[in-house]
Amino acid sequence: MLKSIAITAAVSVGVAAFLTNFNIVFWTSVVFATIIQVAAWNIFTYYNNAKLAVEARTIDDKLIEELGKQQTQLPCAYCDATNTVDIRLDQPVDFECTDCKKTSAVYIDIETAQKTEPINTQLQEILHGE
Ligand SMILES: [Zn+2]
Repeated sequence: MLKSIAITAAVSVGVAAFLTNFNIVFWTSVVFATIIQVAAWNIFTYYNNAKLAVEARTIDDKLIEELGKQQTQLPCAYCDATNTVDIRLDQPVDFECTDCKKTSAVYIDIETAQKTEPINTQLQEILHGE
């Protein structure tokens, strides 16, 4: 804070000293240069904050989007009520049922299956004589 005041004062004095070459009164220039610097700093800070706010919001939106991808509807292990659960693969997952308030654990079992092909409907029609 003290450092920025010193820098502002130094710049003001420097500008004012330079402007005395053009017969402009020293103290008028000091005041003028100080006001311009303060105004410029405020405008800079304002835009910077606005920019940061927009960036923060973009990051939040992305986070929510990522979370949304990893949510699923699961039945409670006690009362079978459907709950929306955030699925995480990096830690054990459990959830408290919104209905009965009991905690169910989620076990993720990844398995493979043969990829199915759509049934050939034309062949079905021939076989059934349609
Ligand atoms: Zn339940």
